[in-house]
Amino acid sequence: MSITENIRRVRAEIAEAAAAAGRRPEEITLVGASKMNDTAACREAVAGGIDALGENRVQELLKKYAEDAYIGAPLHFIGHLQRNKVRQIVGKVDLIQSVGSLELLAEIQRCAEKLDLVQNVLLEVNIGGEESKSGFAPEAVYAAAQQALELPNIRALGLMTIPPVEVNPGDSTQYFEKVRALYVDMNSNLFHNKLECLSMGMSGDFAQAIRAGATMVRVGTAIFGTRDYT
Ligand SMILES: *Cc1c(COP(=O)(O)O)cnc(C)c1O
Repeated sequence: MSITENIRRVRAEIAEAAAAAGRRPEEITLVGASKMNDTAACREAVAGGIDALGENRVQELLKKYAEDAYIGAPLHFIGHLQRNKVRQIVGKVDLIQSVGSLELLAEIQRCAEKLDLVQNVLLEVNIGGEESKSGFAPEAVYAAAQQALELPNIRALGLMTIPPVEVNPGDSTQYFEKVRALYVDMNSNLFHNKLECLSMGMSGDFAQAIRAGATMVRVGTAIFGTRDYT
């Protein structure tokens, strides 16, 4: 199956999940997680109508960016971001989805101010409380959103999460629903219900995420095929 055909199939599955939740498919943004896929693959995804592309490593993003891999689609950063790499992507990416600490927020503010621009971000929630994952603890997200509102060169658009890997299909739903509750709460209490972005769901669970309220899904394998780690 080609990348274009995969996008079409994933879109159909998105539409089905949206319909099951009484939602419209246009409410869901499909981000292609293009890590470890080359510039040609990224371009094919753009030509195939992907809504955005997401990278999770700064070095790889910069290399493919220089090769014009992302022209025609918004570019997101979705991976673990080290503070010393922030300046390499601020202003270059349309959305940093993975802001999981106040230090990172402060550094993004500093770099965005220097460039005189406003950087869109999502706050990442470590919903499973996993040591191995970055992100704000659920109980810290609200205060982080308040902090983001104070920073003039940062615009918080919503939340992002990667739930723990589950053995049983269906188990991610409980995590998605928890993040959705945090999102609804901060949206109504801090953002006048202007937030639009709840990024959750990957190849194995995007339908569940959509049923739980996701407005953005990040899909890699189901679009680009299995990644080659050798
Ligand atoms: C790789 C990646 C995805 C997509 O994972 P698949 O299971 O291949 O769909 C989603 N989100 C993040 C943050 C990723 O790094």
